[in-house]
Amino acid sequence: MVEVDILRWRVRLDAERTDKAYALTPLGGAAACQCAYCRNYLKQRERAFTPRVLEIFQRLGIPPEKDLEVVEYGPADEGRRLYGTWFYVAGTLGSAGGTQSGDGGSAQFEDIGDGMSLRISAETAFVPPHWRGVEILMVEVNVALPWVLDELPE
Ligand SMILES: [Zn+2]
Repeated sequence: MVEVDILRWRVRLDAERTDKAYALTPLGGAAACQCAYCRNYLKQRERAFTPRVLEIFQRLGIPPEKDLEVVEYGPADEGRRLYGTWFYVAGTLGSAGGTQSGDGGSAQFEDIGDGMSLRISAETAFVPPHWRGVEILMVEVNVALPWVLDELPE
């Protein structure tokens, strides 16, 4: 276990187990889905995340292309759509900065600039086989993206 401080969260990261799970993950959830929302996301995934977010992913051992799932939440500002992108890491939460107890107030998203927000919580969604038998955390990044497909969303 290594301790990694991300914003207000302290993550006790099982880096080895996280690496192993991602090595067993052939495709991200969005890439495995054929819906228009996921295809719109995939078309701009390379530039969807700011360098700050990519650095957080790197520290946690998250390959940005291997999302658990990408969820479209509806229209955002400037004609964009709000997306929730979900990732798992193996580990547990501790207090961050000595100011929080328990789960570190993990329920709230933290604004990280450029219209993006992030939260880390133990509130996991469905669990694929290679994440079973280990404590996992969900890292969620909300990001507003334009619609770049020719076809319109449903
Ligand atoms: Zn989809």
